[in-house]
Amino acid sequence: VSCPTCSHTMAGLGYGNFHCARCGTVLSNGAIYVPALVSRCREFSKTITGSCALHAHEWSRLGIHEAINTPEHRQI
Ligand SMILES: [Zn+2]
Repeated sequence: VSCPTCSHTMAGLGYGNFHCARCGTVLSNGAIYVPALVSRCREFSKTITGSCALHAHEWSRLGIHEAINTPEHRQI
């Protein structure tokens, strides 16, 4: 199962439950539970602009970039 938040492969936990180790999203019998940290990181990413190249580089290097968005929504 692909994570609806970041597209990483989710681990099956049994009984229709799946967990994404990359971003923490949980799928439970069709319901999606996205960690609050994902939305907070998405908000924070709006403060990282092109004039802040070091921060943008670190944002990607640390994997935050790929953990908070599906590939089609990655902007930085
Ligand atoms: Zn994920």
